[in-house]
Amino acid sequence: MERDFVPDVRTLTIGNKPVEPAGERWDVVNPATEEVIATVGGASADQVDQAVRAARDAFDGWAALSGEERSAAIHRLADVLESRTEQLLASIVNEVGTPVSLAEFMQVKMGLGHLRWQADAAKKDRTQHLGGYDVPVPTMSDVTHYPVGVVAAITGYNYPLNLAIFKFGAALAAGCTVVLLPSPRTPLTTLFFGDLSREAGLPDGVFNVIIGGADVGQRLSSHPGVDKVSFTGSDAVGAKIMEQAAANLSGVTLELGGKSANIVLPGCDVEDFAVEMHLRWSRNGGQGCAALARLLVHESLYDRFLEAGAAAFDQMKVGDPWDPATNIGPMIRPDHRERVQGFIDGSLADGGEVLLSVDDPLPDKGYFINPVLLGGLPHTARAVQQEIFGPVAVILPFRDTDEAIRLANDTAFGLAANVWAPDLAEGRRVAERLRAGTVWINGGGAMRPDAPFGGSGRSGIGREIGEWGIHEYLEPRHIQWRV
Ligand code: NAD
Repeated sequence: MERDFVPDVRTLTIGNKPVEPAGERWDVVNPATEEVIATVGGASADQVDQAVRAARDAFDGWAALSGEERSAAIHRLADVLESRTEQLLASIVNEVGTPVSLAEFMQVKMGLGHLRWQADAAKKDRTQHLGGYDVPVPTMSDVTHYPVGVVAAITGYNYPLNLAIFKFGAALAAGCTVVLLPSPRTPLTTLFFGDLSREAGLPDGVFNVIIGGADVGQRLSSHPGVDKVSFTGSDAVGAKIMEQAAANLSGVTLELGGKSANIVLPGCDVEDFAVEMHLRWSRNGGQGCAALARLLVHESLYDRFLEAGAAAFDQMKVGDPWDPATNIGPMIRPDHRERVQGFIDGSLADGGEVLLSVDDPLPDKGYFINPVLLGGLPHTARAVQQEIFGPVAVILPFRDTDEAIRLANDTAFGLAANVWAPDLAEGRRVAERLRAGTVWINGGGAMRPDAPFGGSGRSGIGREIGEWGIHEYLEPRHIQWRV
């Protein structure tokens, strides 16, 4: 394992060429050590324009290729990325601070599995035959599709490889060209992709990588040469993106935050899953959009659940992400750690209490914070309603299943939920009443490449992954002829 590996690529990728950045410079910090691991330069306003122009120029040629040709090109990219699995893994551990025990599957293997699926999906014929229609004259109709055009793909910091693949894999498969802009806090893995895309021999301009802060994101998402903005990040920035894209009436796909409910119905054997539940919401330090950190537990099981879950907090190890025993890494930056701590302090000041916690001394360096389960808060409390994005969960008891469903749906978000149910039929009944883009029953499973992901309300607009993700980058075209 190349644990010190940090990609040495500092050039943007525009029109398949490495380009020296001409914009603002900043340091990239390893959040586990506080060391500066790279200094990078962002795109200037001109370079944003150049990247969009390169994607525009490449669009007609890429869209005109057959599905088989695009599929082969995306598979070649996947081959190159796969040949660098170890380096991608190290890059993510060092810039995001994700524990290596989690990163290998959740940050690298899963993303590459999705890219393979998207490469195959490029070949699919999506023509729909609507058949005949007789008013006022007999006709037949088909619906075919054409690619949306140039896609601006803007990603959040927490899963740099996966979030990018969900966007560019689907967009390329659909016949779109891409300008990818990662979070300025974790740009290194994405700059590295740019280099690897050249090695994979993607046609010039099909896949462009630029980096920068909010100003670069603003220019890109409001650019008249962009047809679609696909964004993953916070709801606050998502709202700005929508406004910026509105100037050109560009479409948006928004994958935003969540406050996902984790319901424990009466009749469950909490001892079977309480530990798993806690280890899951706290993984990646709670920096997961679908973290199931709002625990709604039937009042008959509340004490038993707390008792059974205590062992999870003994198993939580906060610290060096390279230690295979670590399961909680650092927060991305000190201001984010302070924000998370603010939720804990504010909850305690408002009468909440810490019910379970890790109290081990934290490493001297790194933006670490110990996991906490908070209780005694009303459903309206800030920590219950807002996304914390740290290793903090809240627990509330409920009286009956109707109340659990009402509480679960009573947030501004609608991203994900989990139902622990005594039997599958009861789990399904509850799942069907939840306003969430993904509902797991009894823990569910991994993110499938063929299932949609995304949410409603402040969790976003549209879906990524699977056919739903591909359709975000396609326009339907109705073709009608007389018979
Ligand atoms: P963020 O909103 O702070 O930043 C995301 C990106 O937006 C960054 O690249 C940033 O540079 C860019 N940006 C900032 N201002 C901009 C502007 N005005 N115009 C254009 N771009 C701008 O998000 P983050 O802190 O990096 O990521 C965490 C958030 O992402 C959480 O809310 C999390 O729930 C969400 N997320 C959602 C999903 C999902 O699939 N639903 C997945 C992962 C993360």
